[in-house]
Amino acid sequence: MTASAASAGLVPMDVGGRAGRVRAAAADAGCDAMLVTNLVNVRYLTGFTGSAGLAWLGPDELVLVTDRRYAEQVHSEIGCSGADVRIEITNDEPKGLLAAAAVGVGRIGLEATSVSWADQRKYGEWFAAAELVAAVAVVERCRQVKDAGEIDRMAAAAAIADDALAEVRPMLVEGPTENDVALALDTAFRRRGADGSAFATIVASGPNAALPHKRPTDRPIGAGELVIMDMGAVVGGYRSDMTRTMAVGEPDPEARRVFETVRDAQRLGVEQVVAGNAISEVDKACRERIEADGWGDAFVHGTGHGVGLDIHEQPWVRATAAEPLEAGQAITVEPGVYLPGFCGARVEDTVVVAHGGSRQLTRSPKSLVVA
Ligand code: ZN
Ligand code: ZN
Repeated sequence: MTASAASAGLVPMDVGGRAGRVRAAAADAGCDAMLVTNLVNVRYLTGFTGSAGLAWLGPDELVLVTDRRYAEQVHSEIGCSGADVRIEITNDEPKGLLAAAAVGVGRIGLEATSVSWADQRKYGEWFAAAELVAAVAVVERCRQVKDAGEIDRMAAAAAIADDALAEVRPMLVEGPTENDVALALDTAFRRRGADGSAFATIVASGPNAALPHKRPTDRPIGAGELVIMDMGAVVGGYRSDMTRTMAVGEPDPEARRVFETVRDAQRLGVEQVVAGNAISEVDKACRERIEADGWGDAFVHGTGHGVGLDIHEQPWVRATAAEPLEAGQAITVEPGVYLPGFCGARVEDTVVVAHGGSRQLTRSPKSLVVA
């Protein structure tokens, strides 16, 4: 078990309860069993974190198949997870053992968004007696609502990012490059016990900040420029996601207005994060505020996304998301305005949906000017 310092003492996760919920969701999708091959979903179901393996979720059993490189790790991790899993270790194609497990099973779900054409043909040979069904986001749907242990890990990841940013922020006045700041953040995450960075840290200054997903460069951060810093840490596999926009010294008045509009929009969006409210209301609140200041066309992306074992996962926070928010979903709210050749601003928090409101996991201050 790769328990980092940061995951010691956290609330346990209910890994053992997941198979039953996924089985019910699979049944709703018309599947009597599922072959789970997306490794993030394998981890979710079993607790196994290796880079090769698959899970068979049959009507009565959960089987994890991996190879001999992971013989020790798989027993240790599944022992810790509390999941009821039969472990099979083989360096051969597991066709025979899976065909045996599938005897009498009529409809087997394959993960439609991650199984390649070649693999689908192979599984057709493994399960020649069954009907293969395209199962769309069955496990992903179950992953949306987090238990207390999952939220505890995300909160720990968010706290690490908050502390790392507080440590690195004063460095901005020393004239660092974007890469210097990104590296300092990544290092600070690790030093605080994170498994690593949740994604490639973004530090984008001046005109680079007008590109929403610009990778950091060797460009020195200039006085008065808006700097977008988008970062997250990982604890126990769970991620945080936060963006702050800052400026070294007072920015151009127009750039300040852009920032203040975005910060305001983000707050209004977070206010709409309440269990039972339509997800689209979060998007609408952000978008209307930005449109009111005339920058609607410069808000070029969705308002947010789910976060968890993946940095981007369901649900998607956008205008077309009519479904209600559910307590325990973890989402981001991250409006932005991007003015090509001039500046950009984005403010993002990871929040957990609750009844009557939300719990904010990322808590760094949103003040603009670093003096
Ligand atoms: Zn982000
Ligand atoms: Zn995000």
